[in-house]
Amino acid sequence: MADLKNNLSVLAEAYGNPRARLDYYLGQGKKVIGCFPPYTPEELVHASGMIPMGLWGGQTELMRAKSYLPAFACPIMQSDMEFGLSGAYRGLSAVIIPALCDTLRCMTQNWRFGVPGIPMIPIVYPQNRRSPASVDYLISEYESVLTMLSTITGQMMNEQALCRSIEIYNEHNAVMREFAQTANEHLDIVTPRVRHAVMKSAFFYEKSEHSAIVREIIAELKKLPAYAHPGKKVVLAGIMCEPDELLGIFEENDFAVVGDDLAQESRQYRTDTPAKGGGSLRRLALQWNCRTGCSLIHEDGKPRGEMLASLCRLSGASGVISCMMKFCDPEEYDQPYYEGDLRSAGFPCLSIEIDQQNTSYEQARTRIETFREML
Ligand code: SF4
Repeated sequence: MADLKNNLSVLAEAYGNPRARLDYYLGQGKKVIGCFPPYTPEELVHASGMIPMGLWGGQTELMRAKSYLPAFACPIMQSDMEFGLSGAYRGLSAVIIPALCDTLRCMTQNWRFGVPGIPMIPIVYPQNRRSPASVDYLISEYESVLTMLSTITGQMMNEQALCRSIEIYNEHNAVMREFAQTANEHLDIVTPRVRHAVMKSAFFYEKSEHSAIVREIIAELKKLPAYAHPGKKVVLAGIMCEPDELLGIFEENDFAVVGDDLAQESRQYRTDTPAKGGGSLRRLALQWNCRTGCSLIHEDGKPRGEMLASLCRLSGASGVISCMMKFCDPEEYDQPYYEGDLRSAGFPCLSIEIDQQNTSYEQARTRIETFREML
């Protein structure tokens, strides 16, 4: 139990202080690349011998970012821009920005002009994934990213290194999926805040290091008797669910999170890079084609509602909380479809607004309390 507590607090510390993690790697003489969310090809950074570090915004006062982004840009990009302009990301060798939505597309140019001290590497993913040309196109995008990364390291990554990095990332995916499953038997320990800290801390670690810590957490949890959670169980959908004050309201209301479709959490772990299909760059491109149920990826038939309903059935959740990132168009377009499908499947859905800069949670508290009564 001492190891379990220690490992959980190590990850909570990393989650609470990403700057310390950046300084730790810089202190080891490593180069660190900032990875804008979501789906930045971290494997390319890892295989190039550098540390990929997630940039998911955070709580800060928006001052200079307002000169670059309109007030209706999502809070993650507002705060990432503010951190870039204020020097909070000093030490990064570059950032990679996947241009997956209109705001991210704007960010590529805003960053280029606003933060010239940290080079920006853009990547554009194909949305017509049925065309065989999409794989070749994505490989050429990856090659451009690798060329830019090689100007930082002074050498080009090799095939063997990328194969190894893909293995490490697939292993990490499996470990995180196992953690999510094991956590559901120990909801007294893995509260919504603890679950989120374990998930998010992954962005601030080299992945094999994070896998090693989470494996120990899983092993310790498995030694404990299963806990029957007396409160309600829910699944979270959306881009992310934070800050801690909001997750604390779930806990006050005896809600346990037993599954999620958050872009920051399980959505990134559910699709492995295939073991076969060609060279490592081609396999990485095929992973993109295998991703499903994501608001940022075009897909006929909108399967997300059924996917969420099935997650509720498997995890014993009574409903879904849609964590709607403020001003996030891709999520707003998807929401009516998956909410309708969830209702037809008999699962109620509550929508709450996510704004990292919010300081008052009274409206969310009232809505969450009411939802508890409904379930
Ligand atoms: S997908 Fe949504 S949350 Fe992510 S950058 Fe775009 S608008 Fe912001």
